[in-house]
Amino acid sequence: MRIIDEVKDAKTIAIGGHIRPDGDCVGSVMGLYLYLKKELPGAEIDVYLDKPEDIFDCISRIEEIKSEFNTEKTYDVFVALDTGDDRLGGAEDIYRKAHKKINIDHHISNPGCGDLSIVEPERSSTAELLYDLMDPSMVDEEIAVAIYIGIVHDTGVLRYSNTSPRTLQIVAELIKFGFDFSKIIQETFFEKTYRQTQIMGRAILESVRFMGDKCIVSVVSRRMMEFYRVTSADLDGIVNQLLAVKGVECAIFMYETGTLEYKVSMRSNGRVNVSAVAVKFGGGGHVRAAGCTMNGTCHDNINNLSVEIAEQLKDA
Ligand code: 5GP
Ligand code: MN
Repeated sequence: MRIIDEVKDAKTIAIGGHIRPDGDCVGSVMGLYLYLKKELPGAEIDVYLDKPEDIFDCISRIEEIKSEFNTEKTYDVFVALDTGDDRLGGAEDIYRKAHKKINIDHHISNPGCGDLSIVEPERSSTAELLYDLMDPSMVDEEIAVAIYIGIVHDTGVLRYSNTSPRTLQIVAELIKFGFDFSKIIQETFFEKTYRQTQIMGRAILESVRFMGDKCIVSVVSRRMMEFYRVTSADLDGIVNQLLAVKGVECAIFMYETGTLEYKVSMRSNGRVNVSAVAVKFGGGGHVRAAGCTMNGTCHDNINNLSVEIAEQLKDA
């Protein structure tokens, strides 16, 4: 199946992704945008997404993203990438109004929310799935960079178990364009600002193991975020670092988003299905990486999550 067959008659197309867009989301959205611009030069194509982090400025035409969602426009097609309709944020209304809704995603917790839904949980990334819906002869260096960033970010630079032979074949095709992939990895994935490094250090220092040292948790309060002058985007990577502790099966990281409200990130080595845990609390994700938003004190939240995790570890 080719994505172009599903959109070629559209005069107006919108593309969107999830709130707090990560590398896969930004890479997929921009990859599809650049691709459709090339395939359908006569069509009006708009991208709706929360403003991506500056690290993604290496993606061509990223400044064309619209982060104001107040539009009366009804699009012929809306393609929602890397999420269901639950996390489209400000773009949700635009999505609902569109004449044809297409949903392309790889989250196991997403049942599909489009007139056409292509949800493949075994895919490393939405970017990988998207690439296989493109005509490779139409892919150029700029599209390749966007897709590459998507794949690299969701696979932890081709390390996570979601990396398949197909992932690596696609990456091989992409890097043939000759862009400086090593620089892209360093500047978008590994490099951290001083403040990001400081809060990561603090979060790791204050982490606590429990459940016979099989789980680890760390909590960042709003006061801490204000002290280090960081936003939620600066906290990426902390939960992965917690999971790197020897013997830990499941890592939980949460930061305060409001009064008695926390954004929770979970990671697992595979024994615990953290997507199933997150779904119980209204979130979702993948077996080894998932998240949700929880209300209550952080101790209540940890207790509630622990019950679900303990249940799974018991069966394992
Ligand atoms: P992270 O912990 O990096 O924010 O997210 C890990 C994975 O879980 C990502 O694939 C992300 O899309 C998904 N995820 C995180 N939070 C939520 C949430 O609140 N709802 C849903 N459906 N998925 C989430
Ligand atoms: Mn993704």
